[in-house]
Amino acid sequence: MKPLAARVALVTGSTSGIGLGIARALAEAGADLVLNGFGKPAEIEALLASFTNAHYDGADIGKPAEVRQMVEKAGRVDILVNNAGIQHTAPLEEFPEERWDAVLAINLSSNFHAIKAVLPQMRRRNWGRIINIASAHGLVASGTKAAYVAAKHGVLGLTKVVALETAATGITCNAICPGWVLTPLVQRQIDELSKRHQLSKDEAKRRLLEEKQPSGEFATPEQIGALAVFLCSEGASQIRGAALPVDGGWTAQ
Ligand code: NAD
Repeated sequence: MKPLAARVALVTGSTSGIGLGIARALAEAGADLVLNGFGKPAEIEALLASFTNAHYDGADIGKPAEVRQMVEKAGRVDILVNNAGIQHTAPLEEFPEERWDAVLAINLSSNFHAIKAVLPQMRRRNWGRIINIASAHGLVASGTKAAYVAAKHGVLGLTKVVALETAATGITCNAICPGWVLTPLVQRQIDELSKRHQLSKDEAKRRLLEEKQPSGEFATPEQIGALAVFLCSEGASQIRGAALPVDGGWTAQ
């Protein structure tokens, strides 16, 4: 029997990158999936066909009412992975207010709304796993990422509060803090770096890693997925309120 058989997992932002890696790992462990995120209808259809038991919800998680409706429509949710996120880089004085609001809504407030919506049913079953995908930028900062760093630090605070409020139950809440993972979100930053300094794409990748990630290698969506599956196991039931880096040594410095 697969360890997560009969569990239902809702993974936000699972049409791409880390969220998709987590969804695949949870499905491999036996969970039924609710996928979410943006994409062209044909891509989403193909994605759904690649899972044996998955539904799709196109909620814009930057909108609280859509988050609540998504949880309601999902029915049962045993595992909630708050993964969807966006980035915007600019010095503070030039940071567009509308981008600040969007990053905070999608990267932080969505976690609050989804957790608030799933907690009552998790409490009824006295079992649940809430995994928030924060970032190394939840633990340390970098310039030009005011909204992202503020949101991800906020996610770690929220994670700790939820962990305390559920400490005496079968529900756990933890955060994973990835370093660089080569996904579309990071590819855009590599493209900008390569344009700004007239570097080849490979040189830009090397420079990006060299600056932050001592391993010199990207972490992978599969590795993040493997940790998520572990956090859903019985062995992880006393890991509560933790911020777990998967960052090639970034935050060890
Ligand atoms: P990605 O761009 O590959 O995927 C983001 C996903 O979120 C996509 O499925 C997209 O459709 C979805 N999404 C974006 N806005 C949405 C919205 N308003 N409503 C619903 N879905 C929305 O990015 P990724 O790199 O896989 O990032 C996933 C998470 O991991 C983010 O929270 C990000 O901050 C975090 N993270 C990424 C890295 C990295 O190096 N890639 C490092 C640390 C943390």
